[in-house]
Amino acid sequence: MSTPACVDLKYLHGYPPALLAQVQGLIDAGRLAGAVAQRHPEAHAVRTERALYDYVCELKARHMKSAPPLAKVAYDPHLHVLKNALGTHTAVSRVQGTQLKAKREIRIAVLFKEAPADFLRMIVVHELAHLKEREHGKAFYALCRYMEPDYHQLEFDLRLWLTARELEDRGGASLGTGQENGRRPLPR
Ligand SMILES: [Zn+2]
Repeated sequence: MSTPACVDLKYLHGYPPALLAQVQGLIDAGRLAGAVAQRHPEAHAVRTERALYDYVCELKARHMKSAPPLAKVAYDPHLHVLKNALGTHTAVSRVQGTQLKAKREIRIAVLFKEAPADFLRMIVVHELAHLKEREHGKAFYALCRYMEPDYHQLEFDLRLWLTARELEDRGGASLGTGQENGRRPLPR
């Protein structure tokens, strides 16, 4: 990836260079976070595990009735977006008495508590799709789009949001990171 900048667009690997250049333009202008917030202004009220469970079950009931029931849904503070694990879906096998039961769990990275409502919906759709499709293949994305027609745009915008957050955590925008990473600074 030849992103000519000190800002690592790691959340955006694989997107066309022309698109990344636009993103870089927004970053350089200090407008990335604002642009995302403008497009996704709505917050959500899914603050607790109970509320998250209800939220996920409602989406599941609407689109994925036939998928196996969920034993657990949780916000997980240990999920790291860096590992591309925004959420996880697991089938945990537990011995219960003499029975071995497969328990379906969905865990959502805790940062989604603060995310715009659109992104929470997107990640839940993503994890629900995994109940039927393990791999990120064509069938998987077809299922995502079936549940959320705007899925691809939302996933892209989520990646923009993550990028903007990380820039803010670093103390803002494009200053300074050039040296410490050994990359050249942004053109001005
Ligand atoms: Zn996935």
